[in-house]
Amino acid sequence: MNAACWSCGSAVPAGKPWCDACGKVQAPLESVDFFTVFSLPRKLRIDMTALERTFYRMSRKLHPDLYAQASPEERQWSLDQTSQLNDAYRTLKDPIARTEYLLRLEGVEIEAGKSDDGKPRDSRVPPDLLEEVFELNMQLEEMRMNRKMGEDDPQLRADLEKARTQFESQLAAVDTGLEALWASWDETVDSSAAKSDTGNIKGEIVALLDRRRYIRNLVRDVNEALET
Ligand SMILES: [Zn+2]
Repeated sequence: MNAACWSCGSAVPAGKPWCDACGKVQAPLESVDFFTVFSLPRKLRIDMTALERTFYRMSRKLHPDLYAQASPEERQWSLDQTSQLNDAYRTLKDPIARTEYLLRLEGVEIEAGKSDDGKPRDSRVPPDLLEEVFELNMQLEEMRMNRKMGEDDPQLRADLEKARTQFESQLAAVDTGLEALWASWDETVDSSAAKSDTGNIKGEIVALLDRRRYIRNLVRDVNEALET
């Protein structure tokens, strides 16, 4: 979809921040998504070097200093385009933020989602971790009690450190799983596979993101308990 350049009337692809014909900065589109900002397909694996290079090239071209002599509208547009570009870059360069963003674009609810039992998905223990989480909560409770009493239990501390190592390796496994799913997603985008294929992949990605968030919270709790 093209728009017409406000200055010279040439066609400007939707979301392109400037007109290639006359070089004038265009009014930013609210509705443009971050992949379009970088002229990227909606894929989960991104060439980071290319992304960074494009970001710096576009930043230079939109730099507000270049528009010091321009009209107030153009000055404002260069600021708005720059801030949109920064948001897009920040989101796309982080693989997890990128994944969540793409899923939201695809209409998937993240984080706020409720599971079948009506509880927030974040608070639901992954079934295979039930035992470990139960034990961890006991240890964390004991640690808090100790702190209140001004006591230190080196064995408990060692146990918690061990638990942390275990959960960190679980996180690494989740990341490996996510990488495989990113690859499947991108393959589906490239091929003309049926929509139901991407539906399955989306569900698996959401499940791994939930698991990742859950385990990260556990690691954070352990870190807090060990801090003193
Ligand atoms: Zn133009």
